[in-house]
This record gives sequence, structure tokens and C-alpha cells, in this order.
Amino acid sequence: MAEAEKVVIVGSGPAGWTAAIYAARANLDPLVFPGKAAGSDLLPGGQLMLTTDVENYPGFPDGVTGPDMMQLFMRQALRYGTRVVTTNGVKSKEELSGDTPLWSASFQNVESVDLGQQPFRVVGDAGFEIMAHAVIIATGAKANWIGLENEQRLAQSGGGVSACAVCDGALPLFRDKELAVVGGGDSAVEEATYLTKFASKVYLIHRRDQLRASKIMQDRALNNKKIEILWNKSVVDVLGDDVISGVRLKDTVSGDESELSLGGLFVAIGHTPITGFLKGQLDLDDAGYIKLADTYRSTTNVDGVFAAGDVSDHVYRQAITAAGMGCKAAIDAERWLAEKGID
Ligand code: NAP
Repeated sequence: MAEAEKVVIVGSGPAGWTAAIYAARANLDPLVFPGKAAGSDLLPGGQLMLTTDVENYPGFPDGVTGPDMMQLFMRQALRYGTRVVTTNGVKSKEELSGDTPLWSASFQNVESVDLGQQPFRVVGDAGFEIMAHAVIIATGAKANWIGLENEQRLAQSGGGVSACAVCDGALPLFRDKELAVVGGGDSAVEEATYLTKFASKVYLIHRRDQLRASKIMQDRALNNKKIEILWNKSVVDVLGDDVISGVRLKDTVSGDESELSLGGLFVAIGHTPITGFLKGQLDLDDAGYIKLADTYRSTTNVDGVFAAGDVSDHVYRQAITAAGMGCKAAIDAERWLAEKGID
């Protein structure tokens, strides 16, 4: 078997590529498993690939699309020597064809890891194995969706359906419109409150007659004149051709259906961290997020394994915070490798 890699990075969102940029510039020759465009939770480029306009990432005063931004992150990581795992093996910048698009490239997913002994084993598609001294996990989380065909169609086309109010709420598309947030947890209430800055009115659509959100957040929603809570309602269809025009609601008690006109729909029904491939080898919290051993760092309960981005952060979930965590993970890995005399 080939010599163990110094650092393998799993995931290719802002956290993964930033970790790669820092690790590459520290001469650690990082190897990235970007994930797979189809048939895997680990999407190359992460959740930003499903985001149209990013207007809050510093350095892009005119905004940038999520996929363009991730392509730039990848290009920067490759420029400094990052290699990626494709279905045709490990490839460097020179071996990839041109500016390989994240979406279409045949990148590899990670199927499993063995963190039980050093060096760690990272197993990709079709049993492709890599040994690694340090592993940075930046697999992110995926937003939960209601699961409606029209919801997905309009979310992917930038047609006014989103799973992140902080990312998309300020877009011109949503200004002075009647918007709705689906969900009854802290995220839903937080997003509804945030959206009142831009919207003429915000409906909070919840499937029960009680919010799950904490008392303080509930009070915030109940006391906001721009928020109207629609109790016992579930969204059964999203209406509109190119842009959302409304939703079809079903009363969860009576079963009655009705339509609600809307200029935007925000789904805030939780996230699922992509940690299934770890199969219990790292400490996770109750919701499945990787527990950091030290809140200010990227260390985990396994020496030599670091975590960055949404996979270990259910609070901020922003591209900029994920990138910052990726930077921390690369620096932590670099110091750890130096302490072990691996260079
Ligand atoms: P959450 O607490 O799991 O709440 C999810 C909400 O979505 C619940 O109200 C749930 O309804 C609803 N839901 C789930 N699946 C649904 C479906 N298929 N259709 C319709 N509704 C559905 O998730 P979260 O709000 O994202 O919060 C996650 C964690 O982050 C929590 O611990 C939360 O406290 C924390 N958080 C904190 C803050 C803050 O303190 N500022 C902000 C955001 C998040 P039911 O209630 O009926 O189950």
C-alpha cells in the first residue's frame, strides 16, 4: 500500500476547500474527497451548490452565485497543490481537465473510515482506500426539505424557495413581499423574525398547535406584528411556474385544504449533519453533529481527527464561519503533525 497521506480532507464546501488551501500552503499536500454529485449526501461544493446569490460573503461586493464561489475556492486550493480523489484515482490540478466543474466531475465520495488506529483508513467509492495520518472532516449538513417536487424545482432554480433566510432573505426577489417560513423550532422563529426586516408580512406555518422553539424565541414571534402564525397547517404543494406564487396548505386537524399567496417560502425544519459514514467512531451530539473537544478549536475526541464547518456547527451555518473553521482545522492538523514529527 502507498505511503500514508499527511492530511485527508473529507468534504468540499467552504470548510473543506479552506482547509485545503491552508494545508496546501503549509506543504502538507492535502488530498480532498469532494463527494459525489449524484447518489450521495456529500455533494461536491456542499450546500452552496444549491444557493443562487451569495451577497454576504466578504470580498464579493457585487455578489456571487454559490456554485461560482465554490468553483473559485476549488481553483485556489488546486493552485497550491491540493489533489482530489476522482473515480479515476488521485488527480492534481495538472491532471484534471481544465477548470473541472465541481458539478460534473467524477469526484469520489467517502463510504467509511477506520479511525481506530493510526494511520487512519479512509475508504471511498468502490473500495478505493487511502491511509492518512490526519483527517479533517468537513462534510457539512444538509437542510431538511418537506419533500415536494415543486419545492425542489423552485429551490434549485432560484424561484423563491430557500432553506436559509440569512443567506437569501435580503435578495431583491423577497423585498416587500408576503413570505412564509415552515417549521416551529428556534430556526423557524429566528428566520421569520429576520425576514420581517424585508417582507411586508411573514407567515409562520407550523404543523402543530404549539411551537417547539424556546420560550424567548416564541415570545419574539408572538410579539412581532408582522408575523402571523398559521397553526396546524402543513404545506402539501408549492405553486408557481418560474417563481413561487403561493402554497397549498392542509389543515392537520380537519384535513381541509386551502391556498395561500406568497412571494417566497423558507423551509426551516431542521438540518441533518452528514456523519453517517463515521459509524459511531467519533463523539457526536444528540442531533448527530460532531462534538468538538474544545469549542475554540477543531479537535475531536480522536487524536488526529479534526472537524470543520456545518458538520460540527448547528448554530451559525454560514459559508464564512465554515471557511473560518476550515482554516482552524488545517492549522490544528499542521501543528498536530509537527508534534508527531510527521512532515
Ligand atoms: P428543530 O428544533 O428540530 O425544529 C424543527 C421544526 O420543524 C419542528 O418544529 C418540527 O415540527 C418541524 N418539522 C420537522 N419536520 C417537518 C416536516 N416534514 N414538515 C413540517 N414541519 C416539520 O430544528 P431547528 O429549529 O433547526 O433547531 C435545531 C437546533 O438548533 C435546536 O437545538 C435549536 O434550539 C438550535 N437553534 C438555536 C437557535 C438560537 O438559540 N438562536 C437558533 C436556531 C437553532 P414539530 O415541532 O412538530 O416536531
